[in-house]
Amino acid sequence: MNNYYPFINTPLPYAYDALEPYIDEKTMNLHHNRHLQTYIDNLNHFLEENPVLQQYSLEELLCVWRRLPCHLQAPLRNNAGGVYNHRFYFDGMKSCASARSTASSSRLFREMSRQFGSPENFRAQFKDAALSVFGSGYAWLVSDRGTLRIITSSNQNTPVLRSRTLILNIDVWEHAYYLKHYNLRAAYIDDWFHVIDWTKAENRFSDAHMAAGCR
Ligand code: MN
Repeated sequence: MNNYYPFINTPLPYAYDALEPYIDEKTMNLHHNRHLQTYIDNLNHFLEENPVLQQYSLEELLCVWRRLPCHLQAPLRNNAGGVYNHRFYFDGMKSCASARSTASSSRLFREMSRQFGSPENFRAQFKDAALSVFGSGYAWLVSDRGTLRIITSSNQNTPVLRSRTLILNIDVWEHAYYLKHYNLRAAYIDDWFHVIDWTKAENRFSDAHMAAGCR
């Protein structure tokens, strides 16, 4: 995956129709080809105009915006976040035919059972969090030094505090579900649970070094 300027919209690791019937082909196509592409174009354009920032990786850009003059902070945060959050979301899903294959025996599932009571309780709490996002944003499962937490973020903000490892996210902007689920965010969340790539989530949980921590 390309991680430095100029950013490229790398292909999804599955076909646009791979998540059917839970997430439809048209939504996936528009979401990846139009919405994510727009964030990539805007981020590249921003970096064209601010070449001193071209040296930074995408993860570093999620941190350095805080040190910029005020008028540059929002465009960088929104567009770098828009690229990072979407890539993380798309990479965290896979075809439901294989999505559940290794889930129940994994370390992540054991921890989810221990910390949330059961995978079902985790699911209920995660759904509540995703429903609670007012307007546009994301719900995330993160590990804070091994402690699992469910958090939410607004707009294209990315939760990149030190010591946190990001494990899963769901995009609850309406463009992620409106064509199929209309205004029924709850139905979209229920469908999304069928296409979580638990192997990817487990790998993210196991790899403490992938935390997008700001230093
Ligand atoms: Mn989106």
